[in-house]
Amino acid sequence: MKKWIGYLLGASLFLLILAGCSSEADKQSEGKIKVTTTIGQIGDIAKNVGKEHVAVDSLMGPGIDPHLYKASQGDINKLSQADIIFYNGLHLEGKMGDIFAKMKEDKPTYPVAEAIPENKLLVDQANASAIDPHVWFDIELWQYAVMEVRDALIEYDPDHKADYEKNAETYLNELKKLEEEAQAKINEIPEESRVLVTAHDAFQYFGQAYGMEVKGLQGLSTDSEYGLRDVQNLVNTLADRNIKAVFIESSISERSINAVVEGAREKGHEVKIGGELYSDAMGEKGSPEGTYTGMYRHNIETIAKALK
Ligand SMILES: [Zn+2]
Repeated sequence: MKKWIGYLLGASLFLLILAGCSSEADKQSEGKIKVTTTIGQIGDIAKNVGKEHVAVDSLMGPGIDPHLYKASQGDINKLSQADIIFYNGLHLEGKMGDIFAKMKEDKPTYPVAEAIPENKLLVDQANASAIDPHVWFDIELWQYAVMEVRDALIEYDPDHKADYEKNAETYLNELKKLEEEAQAKINEIPEESRVLVTAHDAFQYFGQAYGMEVKGLQGLSTDSEYGLRDVQNLVNTLADRNIKAVFIESSISERSINAVVEGAREKGHEVKIGGELYSDAMGEKGSPEGTYTGMYRHNIETIAKALK
């Protein structure tokens, strides 16, 4: 008899410990659809469209470069526990392809950028077989990603269809306004100065949307090396075109762009760092730049201020 009481006590103690271990985050996400995304820009869509019905976790935080990102064991656990996974696709998350293929076998897993009609996508200027994955900078195109998330949530949770439709409409209207705001800001820059020079080619879609020429030191992926010749070519362009500012990116080392500034100086052309742009990663959680509209606004204001 005593032995039994001992077992019971032991078992209940064990259960108590287990209950104590469930974290605050777990409690908050109880009963919600667990959505895991790669980049924060996609997490922002899921939060805005899913609202109270979803608990969203984005694997790639501020300053993280998705091209080089390798999933940790913790990430794989999160992906395994997710109800729905959204990632960009078009090889943005170049080192995670196998993981997504595996996840696709047992849960809804969507490459949201691949919902964009192919004829609207840009190719890499240096390599025609590669598609530019940085689609979130063209709001016209990013709308397809929003609709993909909306439709995926409706399919998973048809009971709240009306909510997802309404939330998506509100979010799309916000993006539309943001686009008009961006165009007005870029129009303040004299036409001959509308050249955006950054560390890697993340802004092609942005340039196409607002009529800016863009130049990156590295190619579409930060995976590619840049050499002295690339630096020299860019320096020549800066001097020839009398471009006054270049930009660093929050997810890429400043070293490459500093080499360009230094090279221009040696050539007698003074170029300043126009500021930091959010390209592949958003800003700190809780700050304005930690949201899609906030990071977008930060970029257009920084660009306009430096090139005006
Ligand atoms: Zn990139």
